[in-house]
Amino acid sequence: MTSPRARERLIQRLRDQGITDERVLDVIFNMPRHLFVDEALSHRAYEDTALPIGSGQTISQPYVVARMTEVILQVDPKRVLEVGTGCGYQSAVLSQLVDEVYSIERIDVLYRKAFRILRELKIDNVKLRYGDGYAGWPEKAPFDAILVAAAPEDIPPTLLHQLSDGGRLIIPVGSGSDQQLQSFTRRGDEFYQEDHDRVVFVPMLPGAG
Ligand code: SAH
Repeated sequence: MTSPRARERLIQRLRDQGITDERVLDVIFNMPRHLFVDEALSHRAYEDTALPIGSGQTISQPYVVARMTEVILQVDPKRVLEVGTGCGYQSAVLSQLVDEVYSIERIDVLYRKAFRILRELKIDNVKLRYGDGYAGWPEKAPFDAILVAAAPEDIPPTLLHQLSDGGRLIIPVGSGSDQQLQSFTRRGDEFYQEDHDRVVFVPMLPGAG
């Protein structure tokens, strides 16, 4: 369903769950999530749920996209790295809120799919790379925020080191359904950790797929 009413219901649900940043709610309301999923699933695009996007991966749940985006916006980021582009929905949301988005995906077909849809939507401040997100994107570092959309068992130190001073990493950590969304804010050489929601992401896998 792509009616404004379905989108309004989604936004109301995000508010009920505690999302308060109006900029984030506004971007999610306006972003055509139905274009990021297969046509056969587009009637479910404005449900607050993850949906399959092929290659065994999913488009993230809108609540989780909203929460992660809200948490990184608190440090007023200009340049953001995402690990795990998937279909490009989170990248598209970020593109409306920050100056530059860099996003890495390890599955080639998803990388190409995301490339196509972002071009169709005329989003030109997102740069995509096919490769392994464990390495980050050293040529473009440092980043004011790094958002990881797949769960490693441990925090990749390379990503922490690609944060600018004052920058923030948000990342689900753990395995299976035992994952904790955590953020790390850099102050000089120190990193301040905060725990957020319990979440379920696909695993962060090493290497390009
Ligand atoms: N950001 C997406 C969510 C995609 S699901 C959205 O907006 O809905 C997570 C993605 O992370 C999957 O596509 C998976 O292939 C990718 N991924 C897993 N490990 C990775 C790694 N090491 N490097 C880059 N991408 C990775």
